[in-house]
Amino acid sequence: MKTIAIIIPAYNEADNILPVYQEIQKALLSFTSYNWEVIFVNDGSSDKTLEVLESSAKEYANLKYISFSRNFGKDNALKAGIDSVKSDLVITMDADLQHPPSLIPELISKYEEGYNVVYAHRKGNNPHASFFNKLSSKLFWKILNMLSGLDLEDGISDFRLLDKKVIGVLKSMNESELFFRGMVKWVGFNQIGIEYVPNERLKGETNYSKSQLLKLAIYSITSFSTKPLYSAIYIGFIFSGLSILYIPYIIYSIIHHLEVPGWSSIIMTIVFFGGLQLIMLGVIGIYIGKMFMQAKDRPNYIIDTKNF
Ligand code: UDP
Ligand code: MG
Repeated sequence: MKTIAIIIPAYNEADNILPVYQEIQKALLSFTSYNWEVIFVNDGSSDKTLEVLESSAKEYANLKYISFSRNFGKDNALKAGIDSVKSDLVITMDADLQHPPSLIPELISKYEEGYNVVYAHRKGNNPHASFFNKLSSKLFWKILNMLSGLDLEDGISDFRLLDKKVIGVLKSMNESELFFRGMVKWVGFNQIGIEYVPNERLKGETNYSKSQLLKLAIYSITSFSTKPLYSAIYIGFIFSGLSILYIPYIIYSIIHHLEVPGWSSIIMTIVFFGGLQLIMLGVIGIYIGKMFMQAKDRPNYIIDTKNF
């Protein structure tokens, strides 16, 4: 019989653990042709998540958990889950029931049709998001796709099914800054997306603030593309091209003894290029930082305890 591991990262989700487990149980009731287990990855929660996991694991034999020594972030939690499984299939989803477990049978049936990866992406706009959030999310995916050449859908989620081949590849990817949504697309194979309508978060609040999302955006773009580094060259070409156009005017003004207009244009130029140089230094800095982290070769996560 084939086995499915459902991997769920959980950061301060004490109230959501049992509801999500029970919803999954309900959704898989009629799936007698698969053995399944749920693996929660406690990502250094400061609430009672670990206690709830410990007591629930005693109650349900197929509820497993991994607990980190501190918070390492969602993508590292997913990686830890994937590294730890021997199952034929993996399904990853959020702990807050925003990813409806009732969709799991559909993910599995697509796999049975022969797909290696089945991912869920949000149908249309997120009805719960504000206008600003919708706009910035659209912009983020546009820029990411342009720079990485990956073609990720706007609203692609971490709700997905992976087959054995893909699990194997992901296990072998030990880069230091993981961006799962990009990595899964990047591996290739036969992939298909299905649409879903996200629910409201069951309990608690989102763990991502606006500034964290901006950090995440820069992080994901720079782990998937080196194009931002080349942008300096293109911008350089454009501006040196434009400055050549200025030469005829200079000659003209020398001939006609025209006075050079005030210093404001000079200051403008200095400020503008100063800013540009700072941005490019920042971009280079980010990549050097990544190389530094990779060179140290530290683990992506540290496991404190696990029950399997
Ligand atoms: N999460 C995590 N580590 C973190 C932040 C979030 O494991 O540092 C988990 C969280 O418990 C949830 C999922 O990642 O299962 C998505 O987080 P959240 O619902 O806060 O994000 P949103 O749905 O708002 O994108
Ligand atoms: Mg959520």
